[in-house]
Amino acid sequence: MMVARSITTVDELVAAGLISAGEEASAAAVAEHYAIAVTPAMTDLIDPSDPHDPIAAQFVPTAAELVRTEEERDDPIGDRPFTPLPGIVHRYPDRVLLKVVHVCPVYCRFCFRREMVGPQGDGTLTAEQLAAALDYIRANTGIWEVILTGGDPLVLSPRRLADIMRQLATIPHVKIVRIHSRVPVVDPEKIDAAMIDALKQGGKTVYVALHANHPRELSQAARKACARLVDAGILMVSQTVLLKGVNDEVTVLEDLMRAFVENRIKPYYLHHPDLAPGTGHFRMSITEGQALVRALRARLSGLCIPAYILDIPGGHGKVEISERALTGDPDGGYCVTDPQGKTHPYPVKK
Ligand code: SF4
Repeated sequence: MMVARSITTVDELVAAGLISAGEEASAAAVAEHYAIAVTPAMTDLIDPSDPHDPIAAQFVPTAAELVRTEEERDDPIGDRPFTPLPGIVHRYPDRVLLKVVHVCPVYCRFCFRREMVGPQGDGTLTAEQLAAALDYIRANTGIWEVILTGGDPLVLSPRRLADIMRQLATIPHVKIVRIHSRVPVVDPEKIDAAMIDALKQGGKTVYVALHANHPRELSQAARKACARLVDAGILMVSQTVLLKGVNDEVTVLEDLMRAFVENRIKPYYLHHPDLAPGTGHFRMSITEGQALVRALRARLSGLCIPAYILDIPGGHGKVEISERALTGDPDGGYCVTDPQGKTHPYPVKK
């Protein structure tokens, strides 16, 4: 039977059988710094008797998070240098991130913005900050696409989302609104008629980029939530983080990509995990990631293949990390070329 509400404390993790009494102290040490949340839908998918459950691995804190390596950093993809005012990240000329909220329905243990999200994080934009962020978008006529992210924008009420969508609709140069979310998977019932109506306010072309990492996440309820979005004319793409212990087998990735396509979601990004603090246990090497993507290509049609992406540490942008994008020694460190043609070192874990 599904639990009634989200698990947000170590005591609740113990009570649900998701950690043992022996793991309590380390989970509490992690929780001092990083938020915990596991929604009923995700708790329901976890097999507590499996110590390697791929859903638990994504949401249940472990002692491994207490290990911070030299190459890890608080702002791994370099949002802050590209933040001209609260809520805006303007890294590329034709698009901005609009980070309206810094809370999420679940807290992923590998999160690249883990220093910014959660109750202790950067919070929700005030009405004045949101107005200033929208003025910034209005004034920068080269902005073609606005990416609502955070945090998870779909934790907002339909009323607040509708208001934001209506305001974006008044900006003629903004043609696309993309919303990055885990909600259709982790809290599928939230994708109801009111939410869909909110997303359609103003009539811009709307994409939802669904974050899911394991085929089990695409439960029947999640599939129905995605169908409600797509049936309403909202386009969907996927984003997946390549995670050791979750989806580092080609058959798992294959099932996930097929499930996306079957549910009318175009596989878009497969992210190499970022250098977020305490996440080294999730990272495989880029060479291993490339081998997995090669194996995936051998099994699937092009429709099912996402771009394998590295966000260059320091805010230098995203690059597709096919073999030709990297130079250097896979054992000693790579050089990676950014979208402007400049090269940057990328450290490897020894
Ligand atoms: S939903 Fe996204 S922003 Fe929120 S914790 Fe997970 S990865 Fe981070």
